[in-house]
Amino acid sequence: MKQSDQKSTLRKRLGIMGGTFDPIHYGHLVAAETARYKFDLERVIFIPSGAPPHKTKRRISLPEFRYQMVSRAIADNDFFEVSRIEIERTGLTYTVDTLRLLKEEYPNYELYFITGADAFREIFTWRSPDEIIELTQFIGASRPGFDALDFLSQLQQQSPRFYQRMHFMEVPALAISSTDIRLRVKAGQSIRYLLPEPVRLFIQKNGIYK
Ligand code: ATP
Ligand code: MG
Repeated sequence: MKQSDQKSTLRKRLGIMGGTFDPIHYGHLVAAETARYKFDLERVIFIPSGAPPHKTKRRISLPEFRYQMVSRAIADNDFFEVSRIEIERTGLTYTVDTLRLLKEEYPNYELYFITGADAFREIFTWRSPDEIIELTQFIGASRPGFDALDFLSQLQQQSPRFYQRMHFMEVPALAISSTDIRLRVKAGQSIRYLLPEPVRLFIQKNGIYK
């Protein structure tokens, strides 16, 4: 074991779950909870995105709505928190900027950024991947329809530093996406059991995705 790895196993570990969460659903929650216990994370902070650079094509729900939905979804888990760090920033929000801020706020923690397999294999399309990988390790969760294993073996060959800091985990397969939930609401179909009930009621009450 290298010295840097030894040090990281002794430090406290903080999980970060980034996403648009429009809306948050059980796929996000299972990924965060599985990462928490498998990687011994002290807690997981959910960070709803501000204006995500890769989602400029469709209209995203109000940041406050997305924040409120996350807040309701995680209320019953003592290990989960939600942060306003991105929704309060103006302009496009880049993960690298958020990670810099978190690193300052939590100097004694090793950061673990949790993603699904789709986002995991897109890391090189993000702004400043070389800096990102020094600021945080990654945990990629399996997601139906997205294979990450080819990506990982390529990484092992071509980018050992990334390979060392990107970890893959299997989670119970949930073929749930926010896109599908939005379409269902729009079509008047049921979204029960795809997301926590308080989130469903919030969507209903505020007429989101109609
Ligand atoms: P959209 O359809 O709007 O893109 P989404 O369901 O993909 O929504 P995001 O907010 O884009 O949700 O995702 C946030 C993070 O959660 C991403 O890293 C994504 O890969 C991961 N994720 C989302 N759904 C699942 C799922 N069903 N299983 C595992 N990971 C998931
Ligand atoms: Mg997505």
